[in-house]
Amino acid sequence: MQRKAFFMKASNATEPVEKSDQSTANIEEDDEPPSSLPSPKLPSAAQKSNVHNSKSDLILLFPKARNVNTSPATRSFRKKYFPGIGNKLWNDWHWQVSNRIRTKDQIRNMLCLSEEETAAHENKDRLLPISVTPYYMSLLSEKDPNQPIRRSVIPTIHELRHSCGEADDPLGEEGQSPIPGLVHRYPDRVLFLVHDFCSTYCRYCTRSRVVGHGELHPNHSRLEKALDYIRNTPTIRDVLLSGGDPLVLSDDRLDWLLTRLRQIPHVEIIRIGTKIPSVLPQRVTPQLVRILHRHHPLWMSLHFIHPDECTPEAYRACNLLADAGIPLGSQTVLLKGINDNVDTMKALVHHMMKMRVRPYYLYQCDPITGSAHFRTPIEKGLEIIRGLRGYTSGYAVPTYVVDAPGGGGKIPLMPDYIAGRDDDSILLKNYQGGLYRYPDTQPEP
Ligand code: SF4
Repeated sequence: MQRKAFFMKASNATEPVEKSDQSTANIEEDDEPPSSLPSPKLPSAAQKSNVHNSKSDLILLFPKARNVNTSPATRSFRKKYFPGIGNKLWNDWHWQVSNRIRTKDQIRNMLCLSEEETAAHENKDRLLPISVTPYYMSLLSEKDPNQPIRRSVIPTIHELRHSCGEADDPLGEEGQSPIPGLVHRYPDRVLFLVHDFCSTYCRYCTRSRVVGHGELHPNHSRLEKALDYIRNTPTIRDVLLSGGDPLVLSDDRLDWLLTRLRQIPHVEIIRIGTKIPSVLPQRVTPQLVRILHRHHPLWMSLHFIHPDECTPEAYRACNLLADAGIPLGSQTVLLKGINDNVDTMKALVHHMMKMRVRPYYLYQCDPITGSAHFRTPIEKGLEIIRGLRGYTSGYAVPTYVVDAPGGGGKIPLMPDYIAGRDDDSILLKNYQGGLYRYPDTQPEP
C-alpha cells in the first residue's frame, strides 16, 4: 500500500526526521488516506443553517487571504537566519513544520546558551524531544535565558532533576484509558489523544511521557478503535481531541475524523485542545476554518501562557477561528518565572479578551517528572486570582484549578471571600477587603 502522510504534505524538508520525533515518516502499513475511506454524507452546519449558506456569505465569512502582519523581531530573525525565504514560504505552515529547530547546533546558532541550558543539551536523558517552529523561535530573546517564553521551550538542566511527588503520569491517565490514547475519566466525556506530535514542545508538558515519542500514531486502525469505543458508549456526549496537537493533522485527515465523530448521534459537542495559535499561527488558514465550521458545535481550548505570544499572527489566527463561530477558551498553565505575577497575568488575559479568547482555566502546573522549577505554591495561584477578580472584567478571570494527582479530576480553588456568619446574615469581603453584610436566607424548618 502506498504510504501517505497524515500530518502534512512534506515540503522543503531540510533536516532528517529523528526516530523519536513522529513526522511525515513512520507511517504504518494499515494506514489509509481519508479519501479511500467511505465518505460520510452528513449535512454540514452551514447546510443546516439559513445563515451564511450562500457562496457570497461564505466568501465574506472566510476571506481567501488576509495580509499577515508580523513584528519587527520576527522580520529581523527571518532576515538573519532564513534570508532566502519570502513571505509566502514563511507563512506556509508546512514550511514552518519542516524547518522546526530541533538540534543543539541549530539552537546554539540562534541563541547564546546559558550554562544551565548547555548542560541540558549535553544530557540525553530528557523525556521530551526539543522542537520549536522558526516562527516561535523568532519571538525568543537571543541573549536572555530568563525570558519567560524562552524558558518554556528551551530545556535546562533542571528538568533532569526528579523531585518528591513527581511522576511521569501524575494524572493517572494510563489507568483510565480503556484503549491506548483514549482517556475516559468523567462519565460523559472522553479525551481522545489523536497522536503525539506537536510542532513545538513545552518543557512543562503534562504528557511528556507520550508526546514526541512517535508511539501514538493517527493510523486508521487505532483511530477506528477509539471511534468504536465512543460509538458503543452512549453516555459520551463530549469528545475532546488532544494529543499532541490535533491541528497538525492534515486538513483531509482532520475533516475525516471530525466527520466520523459527527456521525455518532450521542456526541453532542467536539472540542479541540491546541497550542497552534501561539506556536504555529500560520496553520490557521481559511481552508482550515472552513473545515472546522462544517462540524459545529465545535469548541476550542487554546493555550497561551504569556503576553509575548500575543503577536499580530496570533491575533489573526484567533480572529479567523472566532469569525468561524468557534468559542475559544485558553487553558493557561501557571509557571514559575514565566507568568506567576498579577501584572503578567493581567496583561495576558487582556490580550486574550481582545483576541476573543476567554481565559478559561488557570492550571496549577502538574507534578510531572522534572517540573519542580516550573511549579509555584498554591498560594501564588490564589494571589493571582485575588489580583484579577474585581480589578478586571469578570470574563477575564479564569477558574484556577488543580488537576488532582492520581486521576481525581479538576478541583477549583478560590480565594475565600467569606469573612464570617451570624444568625441571619453572612459577612462578605469584597475585592478591596471591605466588609459587607448580606441577609442570608435561612432554610425553611
Ligand atoms: S502543545 Fe500541549 S501537548 Fe504539545 S508539548 Fe505543549 S503542552 Fe504538551
